[in-house]
Amino acid sequence: MRLMRIGTAGNEIPVIIDDEGQAYDLRPVTADIDGGFLQTWAGQLDELDLTGLPRVAMEGKRIGAPIARPGAVIGVGLNYAAHAAESGLPLPERPIIFFKHPNTVVGPNDDVVIPPGAQRVDWEVELGVVIGQQASYLKSDTEAAACIAGFVLSNDVSEREYQLEHSGPQWSLGKSCPTFNPVGPWLVPATAANAGAIELASWVNGEPRQKSSTQDMVFGPAELVRRLSQYMVLEPGDLITTGTPAGVALSGRFPYLRAGDVMRMSGGGLLGEQRQRLVDAAAPA
Ligand code: ZN
Repeated sequence: MRLMRIGTAGNEIPVIIDDEGQAYDLRPVTADIDGGFLQTWAGQLDELDLTGLPRVAMEGKRIGAPIARPGAVIGVGLNYAAHAAESGLPLPERPIIFFKHPNTVVGPNDDVVIPPGAQRVDWEVELGVVIGQQASYLKSDTEAAACIAGFVLSNDVSEREYQLEHSGPQWSLGKSCPTFNPVGPWLVPATAANAGAIELASWVNGEPRQKSSTQDMVFGPAELVRRLSQYMVLEPGDLITTGTPAGVALSGRFPYLRAGDVMRMSGGGLLGEQRQRLVDAAAPA
């Protein structure tokens, strides 16, 4: 069972895909895949009766982010040891947290816009955690795991000059430019079995960049939710983008992105693939 949103930007409809790959229009059940829907149905999507739902043909349709605009997008920095090393920074003892503006969330294959004059736009393939139940002052990772609705593929696009030179000790200015968070193609419900070892990889113009597994995360999804809940209330529909593995341009090993480049992100069979073209802000497609 997977959840998707399809249609033109701002007009997406909610869709559920069964285990045979058939897509159904979810609008008789919910107007959107938002916090209210996730709070009601997280953990029991298999109990949704699909027989009365209209079938949907997916071919040729734009894929939107699989969640409606989140109330918050929370980023985690330096959550893979090899990426901390390539960034020249020590491995953190506690999660490093920053905010992305929620309006950065776009479809998985939408164009990514290079801000005017920006020189250091970079890719970051990540596991995204979508919250399904309000999380506050959680006492255990078990409690935290129960607050996770599902997982998505997330590209935490970053502008390194804005992040490291314009932002001061926090990074949000380099993380919040328009289109800087392609998410999707789908949301897969979280289970005890699928959280541990998701393969992540990225390519630029077909050349390999990142290749790792969520097994290498310093702080796993449940621990992140538990720790964050000590400082803020996580709401259904919120997105946590959980950090990126080694292999970004910031390492100095690869050039930064330019208009015309194509990013490809993979979360393996579980999370699917994304593909984005880079365009200049001055000359949108
Ligand atoms: Zn990131």
